[in-house]
Amino acid sequence: MADFSYIKREFDPTLGRITTKWILELPGAGCQWFKKTGGCTMCGFSQATQKYTLGGRLWPHWFFMVLFYYAYWLVRKSHPEVLVIYNGGSFLCDKEIPAKTQLAIIKFARRHHLIQKVMVETRAEFVSEKKLTLYRDALGDSKYLEIAIGLESADDYIRNTILGKGMSRQIFERAIAICKEPGVLTFAYVFLKPEGLTEEEAIEDAVATIRYCHGLGVNEVALSCAFVQEGTSLCQSYRKGNFQPPKLWSVIKVVESTGLLMSVAIGGFSDEPPPIAVPSNCPDCNQVVMAAIQTYRENHQLSAFDGLQCDCK
Ligand SMILES: [Zn+2]
Repeated sequence: MADFSYIKREFDPTLGRITTKWILELPGAGCQWFKKTGGCTMCGFSQATQKYTLGGRLWPHWFFMVLFYYAYWLVRKSHPEVLVIYNGGSFLCDKEIPAKTQLAIIKFARRHHLIQKVMVETRAEFVSEKKLTLYRDALGDSKYLEIAIGLESADDYIRNTILGKGMSRQIFERAIAICKEPGVLTFAYVFLKPEGLTEEEAIEDAVATIRYCHGLGVNEVALSCAFVQEGTSLCQSYRKGNFQPPKLWSVIKVVESTGLLMSVAIGGFSDEPPPIAVPSNCPDCNQVVMAAIQTYRENHQLSAFDGLQCDCK
């Protein structure tokens, strides 16, 4: 199977069970925020988007559609129920994915007899009432559109000064409020362990951020656990010995503290380009704790973490 179109079996809180997800990575023209400012300090996606777009150009609509149907052809026999689209930026931004392509994909999902939910990622400023209404109508009443936004931290200093996100809480809250329509769900990424925070502070910040999301009525959150990719400013700190990705214990602590409040997913520890350092514990318990995290990813049951012990805890 191609690495830009593949199937993942994962728990889905909307459907309340393990589902077959079609993960589609589209070569969007790249994050506008990156192009303007150099991007967020932990993000390495721009390297992939630059690579697949000859330096950040916007491919024409027909090219995306050829790619899309080929991508679907690759996974069609797996009977996907949820379509998850990643484009290393904002799907809703017409400069990154042509508006015609966005709508054509939504319409495809409407016609598909099994797909029940489409998830796209976007920066909050690209969420508009007009676009949302258009897409919700195109998708039909029986299917869900999920809008995923990187909040990272509810703390302004951490989000904007440390992570370089360039997003006010008002912009995020406005986007979440616009998404409160029937058939539209919201999803927020919460970052675990920004640079300069101790393990304990990072846990506290992630827990506070998830509580903030819950308070706003966000439907789901996913914990993005820091990993280090080449070419990011986080990587420079890591090489100087100033940064380590979080312990797996910290990941579990955050999920245990908030998992009863709302649906908390644990994001993957790998991406493109492949990380040079990922969240981990000690060599004695890495394997068994990673297995527990994988079990949790599949069923969202906190009992996956029962009985885990190690001297490094
Ligand atoms: Zn250990």
